Amino acid sequence: MGLALIVHGGAGRFVTARQEPAREGCRAAAAAGWEVLRRGGTALAAVEAAIIVLEDDPEFDAGRGSFLNAEGRVQMDAGVMDGMTLDVGSVACVERVRHPVVLAGAVLRSPHVLLVGPGAEKFAVESGIPLCDPAELVTPEETERWASGRGAVDDETGDAGGRGQHPDTVRDTEHGTVGAVAVDGAGRLAAATSTGGIAGKHPGRIGDTPLVGCGFYAEHPIGAVSSTGDGEAFIRMMLARRAAGYLEAGLTAQAAAEAAIRVLADRVGAQGGLIVLDAAGHFGCAWNTPEMACAHISEGMAAPYARCGDAADSEP
Ligand code: ASP
Repeated sequence: MGLALIVHGGAGRFVTARQEPAREGCRAAAAAGWEVLRRGGTALAAVEAAIIVLEDDPEFDAGRGSFLNAEGRVQMDAGVMDGMTLDVGSVACVERVRHPVVLAGAVLRSPHVLLVGPGAEKFAVESGIPLCDPAELVTPEETERWASGRGAVDDETGDAGGRGQHPDTVRDTEHGTVGAVAVDGAGRLAAATSTGGIAGKHPGRIGDTPLVGCGFYAEHPIGAVSSTGDGEAFIRMMLARRAAGYLEAGLTAQAAAEAAIRVLADRVGAQGGLIVLDAAGHFGCAWNTPEMACAHISEGMAAPYARCGDAADSEP
């Protein structure tokens, strides 16, 4: 099958007015990643290119437009994995980085696997990645959400709707975590995920997104996975690796995605979604929230096929 790429823009409840911008954002990200693959770039470069577009788009909870934590600050997490080399790079709780996925990529190319907070930002400077003013990442919409307490995490329980329930999905989330998976012309697989986490989270809280095997995973010749949803539950279930395990056991990419979401719901009563790609470029996408934003493109398609709720391109 050859080249293929899928992106997602989070799983939750996208109110009608946000479905079209989310669909359009995913479409643009898939097109950016596809351009890299088409020109002979690696799967790793393609997923990074796709995520950069989504981190720049304030429709999504990643980079600029991230949810604010309980103190009204953006704290972002991201992770990337090269399925061929099994190199992993992750960053967590970064506040002054415009594109956390780029910093995660620099970590992947270093001896480290996971760097957090000020140490990760120090590493950014050492790697030639400029730091930004944290205010650049904050949008008026998120300031307003934070000030109104919408989507805030309950101080007592640590979540917004009971154990395992993701605040995004029980409140009306309007945007989500982003992710991408790809396979390139040399059969290399890669996965990347980036997030501002959950609205009103405790300072220092880290979800599944930067944790390999939980928020993302890629392994040659099995496949690549990126997840979104109740971070704590995805960590408990190591859901991205679990989905890859279903591929290994012979399930199709779509069946693997569905099986992972089923076990997430059955075992820990949680919500979310994931995208799955096998080494041949077959893709799967499953979620148990009202909507999930995603787009995919593979060889033979003239343009990405993108959808979010009722907003969808005509069938590819
Ligand atoms: N999984 C992310 C986290 O827990 C949030 C999300 O995907 O919406 O930080």
